[in-house]
Amino acid sequence: MATERTFSIIKPDATRRNITGKIIDRLESAGLRVVGQKRIHMTKEQAEGFYAVHKERPFYNDLVSFMISGPVVVQVLEGEDAIAKNREVMGATNPKEAAPGTIRADFAENIEANSVHGSDGPDTAKTEIAFFFSDGEIVG
Ligand code: ATP
Ligand code: MG
Repeated sequence: MATERTFSIIKPDATRRNITGKIIDRLESAGLRVVGQKRIHMTKEQAEGFYAVHKERPFYNDLVSFMISGPVVVQVLEGEDAIAKNREVMGATNPKEAAPGTIRADFAENIEANSVHGSDGPDTAKTEIAFFFSDGEIVG
C-alpha cells in the first residue's frame, strides 16, 4: 500500500440537505485526509466534460442536470490506499445495494442522487483532480 490521492465530490443532494460535514466525518474517520477542497456550482460544460465517459449511457443527460442542480463540494483526499478506501466508505452506486454503514447506504436518496463521487482508479484520480484543482490549491 502507498499514500495516494483521489478525487471526491459531495453531490447536490447532500449540499441541499446540509450534510456535508457528516459525509466529511465518514471520510476522515476512515483515515482519509482532505488536502484540497472547494464549494462550487458546476457549469453545464464542466459537468458534461467531467462525465464525458458516460456520454452514451441512458442516464447521462439526467446526471448532468442533477450535478448542476445545486452546489457541490469537490475534494482531493489523501491517505493509504485512498482510491479503494474512498470507494469502500462510499458503498455501491445504488444505495439499495450499498453495504450497511457506508455513506450511500446511510445518506443517498437514489441511484442518481447518491451523495458522493469517488475516482475508480489511479488514472481517473489523476485526471479528475486536474480537472478541478491546480497544484497550488492542494495543500498536503
Ligand atoms: P461515481 O462515478 O459517481 O463515483 P460510480 O462509479 O459508483 O459513481 P458510475 O457507474 O461511474 O458509478 O456512474 C456515475 C454516476 O452516474 C453515479 O454515481 C450516479 O450518480 C449516476 N448513475 C449511475 N448509474 C445510474 C443509473 N442506472 N440511473 C441513474 N443514474 C445513474
Ligand atoms: Mg464512476
